[in-house]
This record gives sequence, structure tokens and C-alpha cells, in this order.
Amino acid sequence: MKILMVGSGGREHALIKKLLESDKVEKLYCAPGNGGISRDAEVVDIPVMDKEKMVAFAKDNNIDMVFVAPDDPLADGMVDACEEAGIRAFGPNAKAAIIEASKVFSKNLMKKYNIPTAQYEVFGDSEKAIAWVKENNMAPCVVKADGLALGKGVLICQTVEDAVEAIKTIMEDKKFGSSGNNIVIEEFLTGPEVSVLSFTDGKTVKPMVSSKDHKRAYDNDEGLNTGGMGTISPNPYYTDELAKQCMEEIFIPTVNAMKAEGRPFKGCLYFGLMMTPKGPKVIEYNARFGDPEAQVVLPRLKTDLVDICDAIIDERLDEINIEWSDEPTACVVMASGGYPESYKKGIEMFGLDDKGQVEGATVYHAGTKYENGKFYTNGGRVLGVTASGKTLDDALNNAYNAVKKISFEGAHYRTDIGRTK
Ligand code: ATP
Repeated sequence: MKILMVGSGGREHALIKKLLESDKVEKLYCAPGNGGISRDAEVVDIPVMDKEKMVAFAKDNNIDMVFVAPDDPLADGMVDACEEAGIRAFGPNAKAAIIEASKVFSKNLMKKYNIPTAQYEVFGDSEKAIAWVKENNMAPCVVKADGLALGKGVLICQTVEDAVEAIKTIMEDKKFGSSGNNIVIEEFLTGPEVSVLSFTDGKTVKPMVSSKDHKRAYDNDEGLNTGGMGTISPNPYYTDELAKQCMEEIFIPTVNAMKAEGRPFKGCLYFGLMMTPKGPKVIEYNARFGDPEAQVVLPRLKTDLVDICDAIIDERLDEINIEWSDEPTACVVMASGGYPESYKKGIEMFGLDDKGQVEGATVYHAGTKYENGKFYTNGGRVLGVTASGKTLDDALNNAYNAVKKISFEGAHYRTDIGRTK
């Protein structure tokens, strides 16, 4: 079977490495890929948003399945474009990907179907939003741009003044462009956060093992929010009892709600949850594998990923038994100096072998390129160094030991992944 992966990050590298374990895979392509991916798959120079070229490549090369991993092409209908051309594709169509692409949509869905989430109001007008925040003394609160904003469109506001500023930044200064035409203002929730990715074919939902992300740039959860500086799986806060409650109150109702709305969701549905004193609540949905959650969840998957993808595309996920390893995993992200603000690219990296790996761990490449036998940095988040172990502590020690073998000028990573509260 020939597969074309769409994307270029650590998540895509983790998906590719998992697909390579399947004896059904005969050839893997990735568009546009990165340095590390180029050592495992044939990279193709097509931008992730170019539906026309992607479909043409898939046709010309007899691709059996296109796997669309990032949010933007999903929201833009890459899966629809493949299906219209008669090519099998993994991922939600645009109608279903809206669950991530519009927070107004997802909040209204949760309200309509009684899925637990933070209380909220929607505004399309900054003056009305400001007046409402002041009248209701909304502090602390969270102001969110409706559309996709690379994970940056969420502003936590401690005071009413902060909230007014946030509304102006998003709606008047248009910091996130048209993604901020509408906003959601939410009550501020507290409690541990848990990420649960799930496989769903629009009818059946099968949650994957849980994980925990570390979003802030520096140790002790200091610094700016990033795309994610590290992850562990399982999430220590996610008990069997909570898993059962989430299944009944959140996962099944969400999949049924999307079906009832005429938007059946097929692919990987990500639940960003908060375990509040009043029970688990949904913070956000993503229409795809999380990054770097995929880097700790996928290594634990024992069932053939190709079989799961096929079952989802053919809507027979109920027939598949999905098995997971009990061994915990940890991923430490190595980033460019300065990330998530400005940083240099093109810095030579040391310690990696010709496949971009080090002993004792699996190195998932994100912002890297490979030239003349050497790896160079090519983005903010550069590598996700992932290891497993008998215990979470072993997994973390293995990951950090591997991190120490890799170096590049300005390299930055958190030293407390899996060890924060
Ligand atoms: P990404 O897709 O990168 O995860 P996003 O832009 O979709 O991010 P959210 O996940 O909705 O944003 O929010 C980002 C973070 O903000 C959450 O992980 C959580 O820590 C915090 N947050 C969001 N909503 C709330 C809330 N109602 N109360 C408290 N914290 C919140």
C-alpha cells in the first residue's frame, strides 16, 4: 500500500514511524516533510494547503491513502478534495473539521447537547463584548478568537481591564486576522488538564491512552505559551473512573452530536479536558492528532495503524480491537533559542546518527532539514525526544539521557517535563 502523509512536524514523523511498522505499507511519501522524515519516507515538495497539487500527486503515484494530519488543510477541505477525486483519505472532511476551526461552533454544539464545558457568551461586536464584561465583572475570564490561530488565540485575563484589552487586541487590532471576527468569552476554570485523543468513524469512538502536555516555554510553567514543550503518557490525573465518566458524558455525546448535526466526524478527535472540582469539562476540541501528544501516544499503540485507518474510512471501527502498551512514555521537545519568539534557523546539529536518531530513544523531527549528510535546525520546535520505560520516571530519565547526547547552538528544553503539578 502507498500512503501520502500531509504535514511537516513531529506529529507527522511519529505517524510515519508508526505506519512503517505495518507490513501493509510498501511506500510512504510525505508532503512537505522535514529533515528527519526524509530519512524514513520520500519527501515531496508540495505545501500542505495546495489541494490541487496534492490530489494530482496522489493520482499520478497511485496513492492508496492520503493521511491529512494538520488542522489548516483539514479545515480547508483537503479530505473532501481527495474524496471527490476518488482517493481514500484519513481525517475529517471540512464540515466535521469545523469542530476545531470554529470555537463558536464547538461551544454552541456543547451547549445544545449538554456536553460539560465552561459557561460562555459569543460576540461579533467589540463594544457589546466590552460592555458585557464590565457589567458582569468577568474576572478572571478567558477571551478566545473564534477561528484557528496557531494555538495563540486564547487570552487568559485576570482582571476586567485585561479582558477589555484582550477583546480590543482580537477584534479591533485584528491580531489573528479574520479568526477574530467573532470571539468567545468563557468563565475561568481550574483543575488538572488532560488530553485524550480518540479514533472515531462517526459512529463508534475508541479513546486512545491519555496524555499530558506542557505548554509554557520554561520550567515551572513560566514564560509564553508554545505549541507544546513536552508530553507524558499516561496522564497521572486520569483515573479509570474519570475515563468512564468522560466516555459517557463527553466522548460518546460529542460523536453522536456531530452525527446528529449531519457532520459525522471520521478521523482522530482530540479532547482537551479540564478535571474541575465540578467534574471533567471540555476546554477544546481538535480535529487531528495533537503535537506533541502524538509523540507519546502513538509509540504505545500495538495494533496496526493501517488497519485502524481503513476501519475508520470504511466506518467499521466497532470491529477492531485496539491494543496499547502499558509502558509509560515521555517526550522532551528541544527548541531553538528564543522560541516561541524570534529564533535563528540553519544551525548545525550534533549527536544524531544518519537517520537523525540517538540510542535509547526515538527522535521525532519537527523543524529540521537534512543536507549533505548533516541535520540543521529549521523551525522553533526542532526535535521531540521520546522514550519509554517500566515507570514514568524511567521513561523520563531515558528521554533526558538521550536529549543530553544532542546539541546545537542555542538549544533549549524544559528540565521538568512530567514533574510539574
Ligand atoms: P491549542 O489548539 O494550541 O491547544 P487553542 O488556541 O485551541 O490551543 P485552548 O486549548 O482553547 O486554545 O486553550 C489554550 C489553553 O488555555 C488551555 O490549554 C488552558 O490551559 C487554557 N484555557 C482555555 N480555556 C480555559 C478556561 N475556560 N479556563 C481556564 N483555562 C483555560
